[in-house]
Amino acid sequence: METLATPDVIAKYEPVIGLEVHVQLATNTKIFCGCPTGFGAAPNSNVCPVCLGLPGALPVLNKQAVELAIEASLALHCTVNPTSVFARKNYFYPDLPKGYQISQYDQPLAEHGFVEIHVNGESRRIGVTRVHMEDDAGKSIHDGFKDSDRYTYVDLNRSGTPLIEIVSEPDIRTSDEAHAYLTEMKQVMQYLGVSTCDMEKGHLRCDANVSVRLKGAEKFGTKAEVKNLNSFRFLKMALDHEIARQVAVLENGGRVVQETRLYDPDADETVSMRSKESAHDYRYFPEPDLAPLRISEAWMARVREKMPELPASRRKRFVESYGLREYDAQVLTATRPMSEYFEKVAAAGGDARAAANWVMGDLAALLKQEGKEIEDSPISAERLGQLVKLMDEGRINGKLAKDIFPKMAETGDDPETIMKREGLEAISDEGALGKIIDEVIAANPKQVEQYKSGKQQVIGFLVGQAMKASRGQADPATVSRMLKEKL
Ligand code: ADP
Ligand code: ZN
Ligand code: MG
Repeated sequence: METLATPDVIAKYEPVIGLEVHVQLATNTKIFCGCPTGFGAAPNSNVCPVCLGLPGALPVLNKQAVELAIEASLALHCTVNPTSVFARKNYFYPDLPKGYQISQYDQPLAEHGFVEIHVNGESRRIGVTRVHMEDDAGKSIHDGFKDSDRYTYVDLNRSGTPLIEIVSEPDIRTSDEAHAYLTEMKQVMQYLGVSTCDMEKGHLRCDANVSVRLKGAEKFGTKAEVKNLNSFRFLKMALDHEIARQVAVLENGGRVVQETRLYDPDADETVSMRSKESAHDYRYFPEPDLAPLRISEAWMARVREKMPELPASRRKRFVESYGLREYDAQVLTATRPMSEYFEKVAAAGGDARAAANWVMGDLAALLKQEGKEIEDSPISAERLGQLVKLMDEGRINGKLAKDIFPKMAETGDDPETIMKREGLEAISDEGALGKIIDEVIAANPKQVEQYKSGKQQVIGFLVGQAMKASRGQADPATVSRMLKEKL
C-alpha cells in the first residue's frame, strides 16, 4: 500500500501540473493514407501498406487533418508556424508496425497559446506550450487469464489515425484547475468540430505531469507522469492521489522519482510503469518521406474564415445581447447544439430571459426524463419560441404555458393550436373578465375599502382572487388594469 499524506500536510505544499492532451481529429480518412478512420470495423480491415508500415510505402499528408489542426491551434490562441517539420519518434511496441511514430519535434505546428479557465469565481490563463500533429498507433487487446491460455491480439485499424497533441505549460495548480482546463479544451474542440472528444472511444486522452513543492519555494519539484486518465473523474482522482503520494514521499525524507505511472481507478492508486525515457531515447530525426509542412497566410485566412464562434465569445455575447446572467450563459453554451437551440428559441421574439429559463428548466427536465439529447428534442426550438412569445403577448400566462408544454412534447403540435383546441387561452374578452372582476369587488368590500383609502398593495390580493375565479386563464396584467379602472 502506498503512503498518502493527510490534507493538513498536503496544505504545506503547492502542486504543479502540466497536461498533455491527445485529440483525435474528426477526419474521414487517416493522416497519411486513404484508409477510413471509423470506429467498430472488423479488426485489421481498415488498413493498407502505409498504415501497416510495410517497406517502401510512402505517406501522403491529409489536408483536412492539417486544417483541423490549424483551427484547434488558432482557437487555443497559438501562433501557427509558417513551416513545421514531421519527425520520426522511434520506439518499439507491438502495435506500432513502422517502429516509429510520425510526430513533430523541434518545429511543431503551433506554439505559445493559452486556455482561459474559470475556477471558484476566478479566471486564470493556462499556457499552451505547443500543438503538434502525429499519427496514432494500433491497439493491443489482451485476452485470457491463465498463462497457458493467454493471447495478445493486435488491431491496426487505429494505426495512422490523425491526432494533435496539446502540451500545457506547468501552470496548473489544483486538480480542479486541471478539470476546468480539460473541460474547456473539450468544449472548444467540439464547437469547432475538430473532434468528437468521445473519451470512451479514446478521442480525447490526457496524461498529467505532476510535481509538488513547498509553498513559497521557487524551484519546481521532480515530476511524475500519470497516464491512462480516460475520464474527467479519473483525472481529478488520479491527481489528488498522486499529489498526496508525492507529499508523503517528501515528508518521509524520500525523493520523487521521475517516472511514468499508471492510474488504476479501481484501486484508486498509481503504480510505476517505467522510468521516464528522455527525449534522447526516441532518436528523433526529420521524416525523410514528408516535405516540411508550409502554411501560407492565405491558407490560414481561409481556415480562420470557416471557424465558428467559440464558446468564450458566445458566452460573452449571450450576456451582452440577451441580458442573461453569467451563469445562465455558461449553462446555455455548454454545448454548441444547446447554444444554437437557445438562440432559435430567442429568435421567435419573446423575452430572452424567459426563453433561457424554459431551455434550462422545463426543456432540460423533459430531455433528461426521456433520455434524449437536445438535437433530438421532442419540442423544436421554433415551437418553444412560439410558446414564450404567446406568454409575452399576454395570450397565455405562466400557468397555462406549463399546461401546454407537456402537450407540445406529446403531440408535436404548435402551442397556439393546443391552446385553442384545449381552451387554454387566456381570457382576454373584457366582457367576461369584467363580470369576474365585478364579482370579486362585490365579494371583498373590506379590501376594496382599504384600497380606496390608499392601501395600494391590496390590489395584489384582489388580482389573486380574480385569477382564481378565472381558473388561471386571465392575464394578471389585464386584471390589474381593469380592477384599477373599476375602483
Ligand atoms: P519531458 O521532457 O519530460 O517531456 P517537458 O518539459 O516536455 O517534459 O514537459 C512535459 C509536460 O510536463 C508539460 O505539460 C509541462 O508543462 C509539464 N511539466 C514540466 N515540468 C514540470 C514539473 N516540474 N511539474 C509538473 N509538470 C511539469
Ligand atoms: Zn492505410
Ligand atoms: Mg516533452
